[in-house]
Amino acid sequence: MRHRRKRGKTVLRCPNCGSDRIVYVAALITGQKYQCQACDYVGSFVVEEDLPVPGAADG
Ligand SMILES: [Zn+2]
Repeated sequence: MRHRRKRGKTVLRCPNCGSDRIVYVAALITGQKYQCQACDYVGSFVVEEDLPVPGAADG
């Protein structure tokens, strides 16, 4: 079992237009494939952005 080290939430953003309307399309051998619903960008590269967790005082 893999244990998640990250706390909080990660959003995926489009590298083309910066939108967070990224949807998962398919799994490839080299990785995943995503599509942006805002600009129709399709690719395996998306920007991962960590969101701060309000109220997470521990640690
Ligand atoms: Zn986009």
